Amino acid sequence: MAKRRDSKDVIGGFDALRAARQAHSDGLVPDVEVTREVIQQDGTRSVAHDSPGSRIKRTVMPTRQEIVCLECAHIFELSGRSDNTVCPKCRERLPIVDLTISDEWDDELYTAGTVTIEAGGNVIDGKITANNIILQGKISGGELRASRCITLECADEIDASLLNSLDLKIGAEQKQKLNGVCTHRNVDLAGELEAELELSGSLIIRESGCFKGSYTGPGLAVEEGGGLLADVYVQA
Ligand SMILES: [Zn+2]
Repeated sequence: MAKRRDSKDVIGGFDALRAARQAHSDGLVPDVEVTREVIQQDGTRSVAHDSPGSRIKRTVMPTRQEIVCLECAHIFELSGRSDNTVCPKCRERLPIVDLTISDEWDDELYTAGTVTIEAGGNVIDGKITANNIILQGKISGGELRASRCITLECADEIDASLLNSLDLKIGAEQKQKLNGVCTHRNVDLAGELEAELELSGSLIIRESGCFKGSYTGPGLAVEEGGGLLADVYVQA
């Protein structure tokens, strides 16, 4: 991969990449070249140019991760393992720790890593701020704030106001009900979801997924086999 030093921020490069990757996997568009910012462990920054196809191969490497700044929402990629990093846009120092909650939780948490709330975990108060949050347990109070993605694996009824994230993901075999209006960028649905969604991006219903309720947003993709039983308002 060609690397070069470059002080220019590639704002939204990942948005473009993700959109292109999705469209590419859907067979909607030909390969396009995209740029993204890469930060090495020693702080060296570079801009990489590649196609969505070559990017997909690299995502399996465990030492690279996409981080959405907890403070300014700038999206960048971190290469190598580190327990902290500095946002290239706002210069905020971000701790990177992966944490697991396995019992009752009512405190503050702040990490640009991934927080997993296990099946025995129960968030009753406090605020959990992380790059990614995986909810396998319960939440009855407080707030989950994921700068990147919340993944729901709890099959429980949840108040949507407790879930604050850029993207939302619901795995296969999950039956989820969210009460109140859910506002996110993208929702990736492989299970069943009953909700009132207002998105700025797309609702993607996988072949195993089914959506009930109401949907408002600019993008909608339903794979063959996916279910849609909803009031739908798709607008550009
Ligand atoms: Zn930032």
